[in-house]
Amino acid sequence: MLRTTLRARCPRCGEGSLFAGFTRVAENCPQCAVRFDRDDTSVLAGMVIVYATSLVSTLVLAVWLIGSRLMPGRELWVLVPWLIGITVLLYRPVKAWWLWLMHRTGEMQTDEEWRAGMRQGDHTMES
Ligand SMILES: [Zn+2]
Repeated sequence: MLRTTLRARCPRCGEGSLFAGFTRVAENCPQCAVRFDRDDTSVLAGMVIVYATSLVSTLVLAVWLIGSRLMPGRELWVLVPWLIGITVLLYRPVKAWWLWLMHRTGEMQTDEEWRAGMRQGDHTMES
């Protein structure tokens, strides 16, 4: 999990790249054709996790900075660049981890498997 996540590789085959650009997730794995982001909900959830992680880390840093009185009144000079930097830094690994999780829960399929599943009707509220 850690290897494919940090290298931003396909969680199914471990080879294909997850990203088509710096932030844009590829539609399908170039190696095994699995579809990465099937619906907007999973895309959105991945983004929420990225921002939540960034915000929590910024809050922890803020509490520490203010508590330590290292630079009273100038905490924002550190916190704003930190928030932007950590969001950019975390984006790809968190997104890759989220897609790995989607793969583990069986939410990630190739278009062919997806269509086969639709025919059998096993995509209705499976938990
Ligand atoms: Zn793959």
